[in-house]
Amino acid sequence: MGKREIKELVAGMTLEEKAGLCSGSDFWHTKAVERLGIPKIMVSDGPHGLRKQRLTGDHLGVNESIKAVCFPTASCMAASFDRELLYKVGQRLGNQCQAENVAVLLGPAMNIKRSPLCGRNFEYFSEDPYLTGELAKYHVMGVQSKNVGTSPKHFACNNQETRRNSQDSIVDERTLREIYLAAFETVVRDAKPWTMMCSYNRLNGELVSQNKKLLTDILRDEFLHDGIVMSDWGAVSDRVKGIEAGLDLEMPSSYGIRDAEIVQAVKAGELDEQVLDKTVERMLELIYKYVENRDESAVWDQDADHEFAVEVAGESIVLLKNEGVLPLEPDERFALIGEFAENPRVQGGGSSHINCHKIDSVKEYFKSNKYVTYARGYDIAKDETDEELLEEAIETARRADKAVLFVGLPDAYECEGYDRKNLKLPDYQTKLIEEIIAVQPNTIIVMHNGAPVEMPWIHEVKAVLEGYLGGQVGATAIAQMLVGKMSPSGRLAETFPLRLEDTPSYLYYGGDFYDEVEYREGVFVGYRYYMSKDMPVLFPFGYGLTYTMFKYSNVVVDKTSIMDDETVTVSVDVKNVGNRDGKEVVQLYVADVESSVKRPVRELKGFEKVAISAGETKTVTFTLDKRSFAYYNTRIHDWYVEEGDFELQFGQNARDIVAKTTIHVAPKNPLLFRVTKDTLVADIKTNAKMAEILEPFIDKYNNNGLDSDADVEGSAKNEAITAQMIEASNREMPLRHCLSFSKSFTQEELDDLISRLNEAQGITESQ
Ligand code: BGC
Repeated sequence: MGKREIKELVAGMTLEEKAGLCSGSDFWHTKAVERLGIPKIMVSDGPHGLRKQRLTGDHLGVNESIKAVCFPTASCMAASFDRELLYKVGQRLGNQCQAENVAVLLGPAMNIKRSPLCGRNFEYFSEDPYLTGELAKYHVMGVQSKNVGTSPKHFACNNQETRRNSQDSIVDERTLREIYLAAFETVVRDAKPWTMMCSYNRLNGELVSQNKKLLTDILRDEFLHDGIVMSDWGAVSDRVKGIEAGLDLEMPSSYGIRDAEIVQAVKAGELDEQVLDKTVERMLELIYKYVENRDESAVWDQDADHEFAVEVAGESIVLLKNEGVLPLEPDERFALIGEFAENPRVQGGGSSHINCHKIDSVKEYFKSNKYVTYARGYDIAKDETDEELLEEAIETARRADKAVLFVGLPDAYECEGYDRKNLKLPDYQTKLIEEIIAVQPNTIIVMHNGAPVEMPWIHEVKAVLEGYLGGQVGATAIAQMLVGKMSPSGRLAETFPLRLEDTPSYLYYGGDFYDEVEYREGVFVGYRYYMSKDMPVLFPFGYGLTYTMFKYSNVVVDKTSIMDDETVTVSVDVKNVGNRDGKEVVQLYVADVESSVKRPVRELKGFEKVAISAGETKTVTFTLDKRSFAYYNTRIHDWYVEEGDFELQFGQNARDIVAKTTIHVAPKNPLLFRVTKDTLVADIKTNAKMAEILEPFIDKYNNNGLDSDADVEGSAKNEAITAQMIEASNREMPLRHCLSFSKSFTQEELDDLISRLNEAQGITESQ
């Protein structure tokens, strides 16, 4: 239906019908308007599978949903660093939605991991906005290629579960733009999601569901979102304010109560009916976009999706340590220890919980291998050591050549609705690990967790495979990696810190009764913090091993100096120097060599996953643009590149930079710098033209201004300190000091200097 027809349709609707379209009819559907033939559409949760409920609806994954294929959760898939893979997963999910007549898949969930404690981190991609934005974008494009909508969520600054309905994220402007909005901006601009889901929390004092600055000024006017905005389930408080702020659809239903409020507000002249009409137009555009492109012929082949999911998990699992024990040899006697080998944890709890169509297990995979033994080790349903199972596990491990020990977080440790309390594994699992390594020197740990855990035993085990929450087939991919049928190629999309106390938001995370959660660490989130502080971590962002090795060389740029409206191309040669084929994730970081604002030591601005055969060399090329070099400047409320040198660093992770080059970037529109009597000499000197004008003035001051008394008695050391002090004081003095500390200047002279300095930059008095 075209825009004109939609407008006509709206013109024919009663006020009550219009208000009705602004909220759901039940848990998952919009309202139909039978009189006008407007159908209802269904939305359902994603993001890593389809949680379609036929009967009792709920937003916490409590009631039954249809059987569906559970892909790895986002924290796992993000480790693939593979855009195409995310696109293909999106396509499969979109197809499933068409087959099940679901118009909008509620996802991807894409909040930034501010702390590893967030209970929903398993659903989120990364601590890095560039990686998050790129992966979420491809997920959205994949789903929408099947004419099904998406709902990137939770917009915005919903980075904790504690008090999620009332908590107020206090975030400064630069941090908001660079860290918490940047990924959403990418998705909206590049992938045009049909809908966006607003979050539960407040942002800088206002509930997001009624936050006009966020939902309209930024999301629509700046990022150019042209779909609808829906609420998270139950996020609405003041419905009329919400409509004015740009919140189109309230979900689920408010059973008529808030529809009546809208009607009342229009009748009372408190809500402009044209604003309501715009909302209704957007709702109708969404409904007809889906209905008119419905693919009734879509077939959902769950077994085929199951097979494909093995590839997804295979790209995502991360090998964290390997001291020559992996892959296992065909005739090695190895013991599988731990209930997760039989009954893996495949996903997290809450609204994303999929009713898996089947679940693979490592034990099942090796069932016909006569060299493999198994001991359960613990009872996952009990949060304590089971002495009998422990004893059996120790004996089984002792008798084998190697032990593969499956540990991780039980369901209750990571879930929507509450945050984790610490980064520890359950005590009974730590005890099991200690007992096994005491009897078995070749212990390999396989992890099932959605977010980082501490590993105090890391130096005593031979290998660690981070299986994350790999979905219903994660186990098959793990088994294939253990025996070398698949090569690990995932890289961590988040830092694994050594301790919770090291994390950037440790002192401010979670909030208190007053609900104000101050994001005081600012832009220093994740590796931006650890690397800038040069802190040791357990595993850095971007880290992951393979069964081969890569060598970087020959960094080539097409220009060594650009203006910020130009792009620069940089390439690097990567050689597989091992004797197995493998995949490398080439990571390009940009570092501002010198900056007048505090910036992270480096930031990810490009990545590419490439398959390279043993002995082969591939050239990987990236293009960087203004945003790759810019920071968000809060004086101009825009992105800005400060003139200077930037290093283009190729890293195997955020810590280990293996090749680099330097280029110069200058802004096309440099910021005008208005000089006043309070401006510091040092700042004026950063501009060559102004420095020249200032020089004679400063010379005069130095000859006639504050100086040390050379004849004063004192040690040589004191004289040196005095000279240094005067030098610093002169360097950082405001211009007005020439009147305070020297008799040789007049007010007119100072005023004249200030005018000349400003004129040199083209600033006139009136500007
Ligand atoms: C979650 C959303 C989800 C919605 C519907 C809420 O609790 O925060 O992510 O889409 O429920 O289930």
